[in-house]
Amino acid sequence: MKIKAAVCRAPNTPLDMETLELEEPRDTEILVRVVATGICHTDIVVRDGLLPTPQPVVLGHEGAGVVEKIGKAVSKVAVGDHVVMTFNSCGRCPSCLEQASSYCYEFFPRNFFATRADGSSALSRNGEPVHGNFFGQSSFASHALCHERNIVKVSQEVPLELLGPLACGVQTGAGAVINALKVTAGKSFAVFGAGSVGLSAIMAARVVGATTIVAVDVNPDRLDFARSIGATHVIDSREGGASEQLVELTGGGLNYALDTTGLAPVIREAVLSLAPRGTCGVLGASPPGSEIVLDEVHFMSGGRRLVGIVEGESNPDVFIPELVELYRQGRFPFDKMVKFYAFDDINEAIHDSETGKTIKPILKIG
Ligand SMILES: [Zn+2]
Ligand SMILES: [Zn+2]
Repeated sequence: MKIKAAVCRAPNTPLDMETLELEEPRDTEILVRVVATGICHTDIVVRDGLLPTPQPVVLGHEGAGVVEKIGKAVSKVAVGDHVVMTFNSCGRCPSCLEQASSYCYEFFPRNFFATRADGSSALSRNGEPVHGNFFGQSSFASHALCHERNIVKVSQEVPLELLGPLACGVQTGAGAVINALKVTAGKSFAVFGAGSVGLSAIMAARVVGATTIVAVDVNPDRLDFARSIGATHVIDSREGGASEQLVELTGGGLNYALDTTGLAPVIREAVLSLAPRGTCGVLGASPPGSEIVLDEVHFMSGGRRLVGIVEGESNPDVFIPELVELYRQGRFPFDKMVKFYAFDDINEAIHDSETGKTIKPILKIG
């Protein structure tokens, strides 16, 4: 079938709006009519060629839509279901078998190689292959093929066009707090970096009842926004000394810290702000080969912990519907971060995300 898609043809250049050919779903595949797709930082990093995803490629990995057709072997969803498309996984490795698919042993090939597992692509233009299946979807398009492993059915009682970001950015921040760090009522928590992931973490910290919730960022507008959605304190880190301020504020250090920046000096600062027995989560991606330097005595002697977190350590079939229900109850207002753009304005939406003008762009597609 003919579809409309935004194609990334070369690093650091605008995406091209093109008409492509999409193959019919194979037995295990699901055809989704895409209603809306969020733009995530990872799409921009891949567009810029900083990860080894081949081009030309259709990106997009926060798709929301309606099931239009299913392969013969598919039973998880039915035609007409409202769904979001999340990260892909193999379903067979030790992590997947323990419902920890964000740590799938094949996470990188299944999400970043932009081909099916057999190396083929379902997308082409005038007979020339275009890479697809990015995060098991490639949802910067009017239609996407995905899999039972990465499709999640959602309630029809909430606006579908809003839900795509729950599948990556929002799930990453909220899941880090709820699933990975397991922040609990009465504890202190700080997030370093108040982008869409960090702000999702703040909303989640409020949901679980943390009583000291701190946003650390260099952008005063973002700090104001963080206050409006649940931060009890904010720190402008342009002035330096964030860890000293956090230790003083909490009377000895944080129970939980979360780095969303992937910057080694910020991670060091986050660990230095921990109380004895405190835990720091790291979820921002650094260039391959990056290293973290810690004060070893401080780290060891307080029994502090540092942990890597992918996709909020989420089991998406369980966690995404939970986030939808929290949103429906008014307890998780992630819609306040969102700005909608027409699909044709995708390059403007990416630009506004890069400059910080928009916290979370969503493209309205169909
Ligand atoms: Zn796996
Ligand atoms: Zn993402």
